[in-house]
Amino acid sequence: MNATACYGMKSASSAVIDFNVGHLGMLWFDSIGAEQDELMIHELAHHRADNHYSEEYRDACCELGARLKRLAMEQPDKMKEFMGMAAAVTIPPAELSSSEGD
Ligand SMILES: [Zn+2]
Repeated sequence: MNATACYGMKSASSAVIDFNVGHLGMLWFDSIGAEQDELMIHELAHHRADNHYSEEYRDACCELGARLKRLAMEQPDKMKEFMGMAAAVTIPPAELSSSEGD
């Protein structure tokens, strides 16, 4: 599997996004740019639909992109906080391989 991230529902009210740190690299999490926005919009849109080709998924991408732009312009500190939270829960690949089999 070579996906960069994967959205998954954990319950009716919670979900997680797993990031493939081996593919993205740790430096990916140090930036807030178009690549990060694109991946976050892509994954968060899966909250509404699994199918990339569905109208529901496409509409979710458009809505999230518009909301992201507004958040970044009106509350840039909230945006940085959000991206910092994503980086904080990232587990480096070395730690993942050392914990396997535990
Ligand atoms: Zn996807």
